[in-house]
Amino acid sequence: MAKPLIAGNWKMHGTAAEAVALARQLVKNEHSCAGVQLAIFPPTLHLGLVASELSGSAIALGAQNVSEHGPGAFTGEVSADMLKETGCDYTLVGHSERRTLFGEVDGAVADKFKAAQRSDLVPILCVGETLQQRQQGLTLDVIAKQINAVKDKVGIENLCRGVIAYEPVWAIGTGEVASPEEAQLVHIVIRELLGPGGIGTSLLYGGSVKASNAAELFAEPDIDGGLVGGASLEADEFLKIAQLMT
Ligand code: PEP
Repeated sequence: MAKPLIAGNWKMHGTAAEAVALARQLVKNEHSCAGVQLAIFPPTLHLGLVASELSGSAIALGAQNVSEHGPGAFTGEVSADMLKETGCDYTLVGHSERRTLFGEVDGAVADKFKAAQRSDLVPILCVGETLQQRQQGLTLDVIAKQINAVKDKVGIENLCRGVIAYEPVWAIGTGEVASPEEAQLVHIVIRELLGPGGIGTSLLYGGSVKASNAAELFAEPDIDGGLVGGASLEADEFLKIAQLMT
């Protein structure tokens, strides 16, 4: 079984100096969460700098987004090979902010997942329902549609080699958090969608995770780790969350 994964999505925050300082603090204290795989997702521009800080550390580096394309005339994009060369092992794909603010549709997310694996990056596929979809009772349909789009593109075996993060959109950056029971229910459904090959696939919960609410979420049997946004910008808070997974 893989180590539990605690991933920190820094989003578009921080100067280069702040990114280096945060990475340094995490490296200095990573021994406090042995047994957990930590991964950090700085802004693209800071990946190289943070990669240097992580040299010799067990903390993994990830990107927040990846182009679905190989090298070519794609102004402003960053390819999976470039991320790999910079030291990334992971990339988020289909984060809800990419889907809602930048128009990423299921097909493009599936292409990004494929591109990531082609370059030996582990894609973390983010799925989740909006508040309106939740209120309409559509949560499980939305999750199934988002996951099946990737399954249809890459096949079930490749899907199971990735990581899936259930991130209810209404819980991201809002302070609202799914109850452990709600999150576990969705994770069970995801596990069922993956079939027997998905027994070992890491399923993360994300959405306003903090040290004060992580323990009860992580106690659920199908929650294998967390994708943490705001709370990953404070080294102490992020490490405390990770310690709750040990
Ligand atoms: C995220 O960005 O994936 C996230 C879960 O953010 P937050 O923890 O701030 O809700």
